[in-house]
Amino acid sequence: KAYSKEEIKTIVAQENVEFIRVTFTDVLGAIKNVEVPISQLDKVLDNNLMFDGSSIEGFVRINESDMYLYPDLSTFMIFPWATDSHGGKVSRLIADVYTADREPFAGDPRHALRSALAKAKEEGFTAFNVGTEPEFFLFKLDENGKPTMELNDKGGYFDLAPLDMGENVRREIVLTLEKMNFEVEAAHHEVAEGQHEVDFKYTNALEAADKIQTFKLVVKTIARKNGYYATFMPKPVAGINGSGMHTNMSLFTEKGNAFEDKSDEMGLSQTAYHFLGGLLAHATAITALANPTVNSYKRLTPGFEAPVYVAWSASNRSPMIRIPASRGQSTRLELRTVDPTANPYTTLAAILMAGLDGVDRQLEPTASVDKNIYLMDENERKRAGITNLPDTLLAAVSDLAEDPIVINAIGNHIADKFIEAKKIEYTSYRQFVSKWEIDNYLENY
Ligand code: ADP
Ligand code: MG
Ligand code: MG
Ligand code: MG
Ligand code: MG
Repeated sequence: KAYSKEEIKTIVAQENVEFIRVTFTDVLGAIKNVEVPISQLDKVLDNNLMFDGSSIEGFVRINESDMYLYPDLSTFMIFPWATDSHGGKVSRLIADVYTADREPFAGDPRHALRSALAKAKEEGFTAFNVGTEPEFFLFKLDENGKPTMELNDKGGYFDLAPLDMGENVRREIVLTLEKMNFEVEAAHHEVAEGQHEVDFKYTNALEAADKIQTFKLVVKTIARKNGYYATFMPKPVAGINGSGMHTNMSLFTEKGNAFEDKSDEMGLSQTAYHFLGGLLAHATAITALANPTVNSYKRLTPGFEAPVYVAWSASNRSPMIRIPASRGQSTRLELRTVDPTANPYTTLAAILMAGLDGVDRQLEPTASVDKNIYLMDENERKRAGITNLPDTLLAAVSDLAEDPIVINAIGNHIADKFIEAKKIEYTSYRQFVSKWEIDNYLENY
């Protein structure tokens, strides 16, 4: 909703709001916030709230550290759960980050997505619509409130209670989201034990990214209230499915969904095919952003419904990109690599710019793969033009570093900081000796 400053002031007074939390997302995707008492509301609404950017991951050095937060008034909401000891409420605003010179900050992921959306608009696309399907696990908390590795149930896909002990938690998550203006389309137990999915309706990418960040906060908060720990880690338990965040997308013009064309045999427009061509061309670089942790690559392995190859299909669910059967306004592409550790702003900026590159250059996608790729051998895959997704974070980051379109989508500032941080993360992982190595090598050598 497009609130004015005056409307926000009125609501804050009527609802006894005592604190305002101004949030933003750092380069690595973590939500940061500055909380101020409501006496500071004018300062916040007038774009005068400052913070020290040098203490935020990937932002700036000490000597240029003063930054401003410009709240996006349409993101105003009151947290349904957070009240202080005497009933006062806590509200939040999501902000764009500005420099001391009052310029949009190049290291702000939200700014990168805004820029990509502006580019799409120049090309006549009024919206880049995105609907995600985030998955997560619920683990039990111990008596000290620390997460254990004990899953909350033994349920499977679409199971019902009592196998699905997460039902009540999921309902409370859904009800909370609805109070926060989410249109929840479905919530269900996922394939793995202790694993759940909540789907909410697609919106334009900037709002979708904001919603993903809010969603994670809600899920973690409500899970903890119920004695569980919710994690969006992609593969917390080896041997069972990991958690993804399938990303459904479509471009709209003033006339509606630009991916639909009833005269095409698959019902897809040239724009959709070219966008798909762009996604395939930049797939490995996008993976660094969509799957930004060491652990992400333990999900992208054969046998657990997660993609391993760069390919697309209209008819089966194994490839990286699926074309869901719905047409009309729901005509869309589903990118299945993305996992919930992705920074939604930079990832969506990269996806959009990759797709637009395909549209600009009229890239034709490879042929649709209608067989189960996991049953094809290497030669068959080669003949079908199917290549591999990167199998480690380091490989993905190298592909990102070599893709100027994707680098441009997130900007040099974010790209440099991201690549540097991810190389350090990978090295730290590589230096660690795991239990698997001890089990397999200690006594054998
Ligand atoms: P799946 O069949 O892959 O499990 P879901 O039904 O769980 O799919 O989720 C589908 C997602 O796609 C929802 O978030 C929905 O709002 C979204 N969606 C529907 N139409 C569009 C569209 N035109 N553009 C983008 N996302 C869309
Ligand atoms: Mg789903
Ligand atoms: Mg579904
Ligand atoms: Mg799912
Ligand atoms: Mg899906």
